[in-house]
Amino acid sequence: MESTRTAVGIVGAGPAGLMLAHLLRLAGIETIILEARSREYCETRIRAGLMEQGSVDLMDEIGAAERLHREALVHGGIYIRFDGRSHHIDIKGLTSRSMFIYGQQEIVKDLIALQLAAGGEIRFDCSGVALEALDTDTPAIRYVDSAGNGVRITCDFVAGCDGFHGISRPSIPVNAIQTYDREYPFAWLGILSESPPIDPELIYVHHPDGFALFTMRSNTMSRLYLQVEVDEDIAKWSDDRIWSEFHHRLEGDETPPLIEGPILQKTILPMRSFMTAPMRFERLFLAGDAAHIVPPTGAKGMNLALADVAVLARAFETFYKSGSDEKLRGYSDTALRRSWAAARFSWWMTSLTHTFNDRLPFDNEVQLSELDYVTRSHAGAEMLAEQYVGLPIER
Ligand SMILES: Cc1cc2nc3c(=O)[nH]c(=O)nc-3n(C[C@H](O)[C@H](O)[C@H](O)COP(=O)(O)OP(=O)(O)OC[C@H]3O[C@@H](n4cnc5c(N)ncnc54)[C@H](O)[C@@H]3O)c2cc1C
Repeated sequence: MESTRTAVGIVGAGPAGLMLAHLLRLAGIETIILEARSREYCETRIRAGLMEQGSVDLMDEIGAAERLHREALVHGGIYIRFDGRSHHIDIKGLTSRSMFIYGQQEIVKDLIALQLAAGGEIRFDCSGVALEALDTDTPAIRYVDSAGNGVRITCDFVAGCDGFHGISRPSIPVNAIQTYDREYPFAWLGILSESPPIDPELIYVHHPDGFALFTMRSNTMSRLYLQVEVDEDIAKWSDDRIWSEFHHRLEGDETPPLIEGPILQKTILPMRSFMTAPMRFERLFLAGDAAHIVPPTGAKGMNLALADVAVLARAFETFYKSGSDEKLRGYSDTALRRSWAAARFSWWMTSLTHTFNDRLPFDNEVQLSELDYVTRSHAGAEMLAEQYVGLPIER
């Protein structure tokens, strides 16, 4: 078995693992990233699309934002539509900050290219990744490389950035962490359509027959979502049925004309909130989806992953520069405070905009009243805008 050593072993080359490696590289701290999938798979996996200003600031900080600034669509607001009327929330006006539309797969491409160009190490196609000796000063990561050779990497610390289905969180003894799980009684049917967006900004639709969301990936590519049953069978959704449902839920006088196009991708997405506390076990630190999942309504998951590693990188930097582990000890509390705020906001946006079959008529009227409040009251709109655009990252 080949043996090697690094300061911080990072499991997972998603947004969290890659950003952490960059921030540590700039602080002079050595890392090795281990990724289960191929480079091509990581670079083409279509997921998030909306970046908070704070996430763009991090891309700037590591020098990876050149293409982003050229290609991203900059958004200053969103529409919330209910009772057949659209209401604009002027997020830029209320917060002086913007959101950016730039696909997660593009961020991953930019981060991988820069990491390799800077001489950083990413080992793709690793199988059987396992963590060892996490409660010692020399934790290790074991895996089998693409040629079938066993490798053991001894580290000072391990960063578990391997997403919700990774091995990092399950490597923690069950009695050392607490998890909080909430599944929602519906799912999203998401499509990627080769058609221009119907509006420059996102449109969130509350409709008695279910929520809909109109978003985009570029000036020629739209991303649309429909609330569907939790156990929905995608085979029952022909392209015609999907477009007809979008026409139906968007109906109303101020509706921009819906532009249909070839549907390139159709998926059913379960809706879930999941939190882990603490986000640390001895020498293993969890970040991003490995620690928490939020429903996509608030567009927070990837932004939260980037914020976690910004906090974690500063804690490692402090440790290696001064020998103080105070920030490492505080990492979980600091990251969790922000994560719970995002979890709460994502849950609230979901509750505000979706149709719940088991709600009483009273609850439905309260929901409409709350929609009216956040779209008509300055304080209500400001509360939504501050959280939508992203709370500050305390490092
Ligand atoms: C349809 C959809 C839309 C979304 N929209 C938004 C949005 O608009 N805004 C937003 O902020 N978020 C959004 N999200 C959430 C966002 O995509 C995730 O929160 C984000 O990918 C988390 O990044 P991560 O690096 O923590 O994990 P991941 O991106 O999941 O990366 C984890 C990496 O670890 C690798 N890995 C897994 N297991 C192992 C192992 N055993 N060994 C080695 N490597 C392993 C995986 O292959 C992967 O590359 C959306 C998600 C979905 C599904």
